[in-house]
Amino acid sequence: MRGAMGGPRVLLRRLREVMAEPVSAQDRLDRIVVLIAANMVAEVCSVYVLRVDGTLELYATEGLNKEAVHQTVMRIDEGLVGLVASQANAINLQDAQSHPAFSYRPETGEEIYHSFLGVPILRAGNTLGVLVVQNRAHRNYSEEEEEALQTTAMVLAEMIASGELASLAKPGAEPAVHPRRHLRGNVLSEGIALGHAVLHEPRVVIKNFVADDIPGELKRLDDAIAAMRSDVDVMLERGEIADGGEHKDILETYRMFAHDRGWLARMREAIRTGLTAEAGVERVQSDTRARMLRATDPYLRERLHDLDDLANRLMRQLMGVEHAPHRDQLPDNAIIVARMMGPAALLDYDRKRLRGLILEEGGPTSHVAIVARALGIPAVGEVENAAGLVESGDPVIVDGISGDVYLRPPPDIEAAYVERVKLRARKQAQYQALRGRACVTRDGHEIALHLNAGLLVDLPHIEETGAAGIGLFRTELQFMVATSFPRIGEQLALYRSVMETAGEKPVTFRTLDIGGDKVLPYMSASEEENPAMGWRAIRLGLDRPGLMRSQIRALLRAASGKALRIMFPMVAVVDEFDQGKLMVEHELTYLRRHGHTLPERVEIGVMVEVPSLLFQLDDLLPRVDFLSVGSNDLCQFLFAADRGNSHVSGRYDPISVPVVRALRLIARKGREHKKPVTLCGELASKPIGALVLVAIGYRSLSLTPSAVGPVKSMLLELDAEKALAAIGPLLDHGETGVTLRQRIEQFAASENLQL
Ligand code: PEP
Ligand code: MG
Repeated sequence: MRGAMGGPRVLLRRLREVMAEPVSAQDRLDRIVVLIAANMVAEVCSVYVLRVDGTLELYATEGLNKEAVHQTVMRIDEGLVGLVASQANAINLQDAQSHPAFSYRPETGEEIYHSFLGVPILRAGNTLGVLVVQNRAHRNYSEEEEEALQTTAMVLAEMIASGELASLAKPGAEPAVHPRRHLRGNVLSEGIALGHAVLHEPRVVIKNFVADDIPGELKRLDDAIAAMRSDVDVMLERGEIADGGEHKDILETYRMFAHDRGWLARMREAIRTGLTAEAGVERVQSDTRARMLRATDPYLRERLHDLDDLANRLMRQLMGVEHAPHRDQLPDNAIIVARMMGPAALLDYDRKRLRGLILEEGGPTSHVAIVARALGIPAVGEVENAAGLVESGDPVIVDGISGDVYLRPPPDIEAAYVERVKLRARKQAQYQALRGRACVTRDGHEIALHLNAGLLVDLPHIEETGAAGIGLFRTELQFMVATSFPRIGEQLALYRSVMETAGEKPVTFRTLDIGGDKVLPYMSASEEENPAMGWRAIRLGLDRPGLMRSQIRALLRAASGKALRIMFPMVAVVDEFDQGKLMVEHELTYLRRHGHTLPERVEIGVMVEVPSLLFQLDDLLPRVDFLSVGSNDLCQFLFAADRGNSHVSGRYDPISVPVVRALRLIARKGREHKKPVTLCGELASKPIGALVLVAIGYRSLSLTPSAVGPVKSMLLELDAEKALAAIGPLLDHGETGVTLRQRIEQFAASENLQL
């Protein structure tokens, strides 16, 4: 290396000595800059530290005016130093002053230096500061020199992260090591939680950065890579990480990366500059993470995520660290923070200690979100870099109402949330008091409130809410959280426990609704252009009768001697119902022949989710025992707006004339044919939706467990006839000047109803 004294390895060793000396933080920094300047034959070496207020402060310098230390402060969008920090990328210039971003600070006296090499001080992809060397001459810093400076910056990153510099900072301008953060994401599961962060994949803490034996460290890396590669191969064969929802091609990309030469070469290069194997991995991983956070191309981001994952595996391999924290080690108020996790992983945590969940990925239809809702844990997804910004044990707030996430919240925010939680608890207590009360409107209409459920963990909610039964048991959830097809015995066991727990209360089992957004990781699905309108639910069941028949058999056996209710999802034509019903009859015959005790009664219904059924109600109703409206799908198909696509899902209001007219038609036809009609989509889980439904004649609803309290307390105050009178004209004649939602809100306000 040109002009360097002793090269980077010597420098790293000297730095290690300085790090161990019992001197003040400022002395240590001052010695470090002198060492670096000397080693790199630079006239200037300066350390800038990123502060919590988002600015960069000069903390130490060799070569610039000493009086500028702790005086020079610049914005992150200012000058070359700002550019290095904001882009988390090195800048290497022979003539810094001709760069458009160059900004001259007279107090530093830097106008005489022409060449500039600045590197970000990175930790877990987050910028903590900038390390700069400068020379008077138009010097051309080599790639090796750049690499060496990056390596050196890691030592500074550890020093900053250790909190040692806090004593040098003015109040409110501390280093941004553990800054307060307000992040935003999408609500996956409602509720508010305060607690302490638990990293699902804890970061490995590196104690030793500086290598004593470089060939030995290179060998350690090679061994770890070989072990990681064979791990990835095994995983691919077993499809083990497939339960995280990843698909085969992603796993293949994984394998490709595990053999990526560029990546491996960069880690080796980092070790050659004097780092231990783990520090070399972290150095490259930190760059990858920084790039990932700034990448806008979703494909590139995905790939960088994969690399980040692999680096984690490699690190664990090197350090011999176990995967996830043991469930017994959870704090009492754990908020799990993960990039992404599978549904089974969440179920592995001790429910009693779980308070909330934050994911960097994870859309509302992800399987882990479904489990979070079933467990009643507030969860927010798509929170950028949450796992990179949080440290284990940090105080965290998850607002599963607004989608806000606060890491290390300030006292005023925390106090406000404590109040909100208390208020919610008071409300819950009020709802709890209504538990045993029949749900009858003020004008005497009894409304049956049932629950939507799908997992064993849902069952205690029947007792807790005092619900009339389970109006929708989503049988596919058992399939979705499993790692392979649940066998008929496992299905039977689940259905039996459900029926036993429900006791006398009715349970309506929906046959498998897989396909669409409900992907089974272990079932290879063909690519579909429009999966929601594709080969799913009863369509798949009728085409693959083996699957549907074994499920029906399990249901019939679980209900032996009892009443059973089954319904079919996504029926589009009457004939599909007839075929499904025939299957039930075949299974009954089979069981009878084999000497099983049959259910005392079997009622078979249909979900109204496809608009074509609206025009077949007179044909359909005489055949069925009941109808249950799936308003989630019905709305998506009525408006032709994908329920899972955030660009369009909020565009059309389900509380609007076209939807409510359709719902009114179904209720009317049900009455005409004397067949019970219920509704189990999300619409019933909002007080405003329940108000409309009861007004237009629904007497049975099926809701998310947490909605039973608010909906019931509203219904107890509702005069259904009056509500109908308020909205009837709009439904008959259309919206003019006022929307249906506005009309209902006015009505609710005048009646003092809590929506
Ligand atoms: C619905 O579509 O409204 C429904 C209840 O079914 P799911 O949400 O499971 O598709
Ligand atoms: Mg549906």
